[in-house]
Amino acid sequence: KYDDIVPLLSSIIEAHEINHPNHVFHFQTKTTHTMVLGDKDKLTQVFTNLINNAIKYSPDGGNIYVTVYEEESQLKVAIKDEGLGIPEESIDKLFSKFYRVDNSDYRKIGGTGLGLAIVKEIMKQHDGDISIQSKLKEGSTFTVNFPLVIGYSDEERGKNGNLSGMNKVNVIIVEDDS
Ligand code: ATP
Ligand code: MG
Repeated sequence: KYDDIVPLLSSIIEAHEINHPNHVFHFQTKTTHTMVLGDKDKLTQVFTNLINNAIKYSPDGGNIYVTVYEEESQLKVAIKDEGLGIPEESIDKLFSKFYRVDNSDYRKIGGTGLGLAIVKEIMKQHDGDISIQSKLKEGSTFTVNFPLVIGYSDEERGKNGNLSGMNKVNVIIVEDDS
C-alpha cells in the first residue's frame, strides 16, 4: 500500500514533542514526492526508533531536525540530533543485534541494542537502506532512503499490498498536485 510519509512523520513527531518537551523538533519537507510503498506500522516503527534514539542520545534543549528530501532518485528522511555522536569504530556495528556503544556516557542510558537492527531489517524489506553520519560529541544524522515513487493513482494504491510487491516501484503516473 502507498503511504504519504509526511502526515505519518508529523504525527510521530507531534507525539514525541508532547512527551519530550525539552527537545526542540524541526520538521521540513523539501519535495512533493513523499509517497512510499510499504507497511505503515513498520514505517512508524522505523521513524519511532530513530527519533527515540535522537532524543535518548542527545541532551535536553537539543534540536532534532527531521528533513524529507529527494536525492539521486531516492526519497530520503534525515533525522539529525545534537547529541553524543558515535565513535567512528562503532558505526559499522550499530545495526548488529544487541550492540551498544560501550563507554560511560552511553552506559548511563538504558537500551537493549535492538532498535537499529529492526530499522535495518524493515528498510531492507522496503527496498531501502539506512546510512549514518556522525561526529563524536557533536551529533549524528541517520538517513533512511526509499525508492522514489514519482506518481500514483488510486487504482495503483490498492495493488501491491504486500511486501513482495514492493520490489516493483515502477508506477510512474501523472502527479496530481496541480
Ligand atoms: P533499544 O533497543 O531500546 O533501541 P538502543 O537504543 O541501545 O536500545 P539501538 O537503537 O539499536 O539500541 O542503538 C544501538 C546503539 O547505537 C545505541 O546503544 C547507541 O550506542 C548508538 N546510537 C543509536 N542512535 C544514536 C544516536 N542518535 N546518537 C548516538 N548514539 C546512537
Ligand atoms: Mg534505540
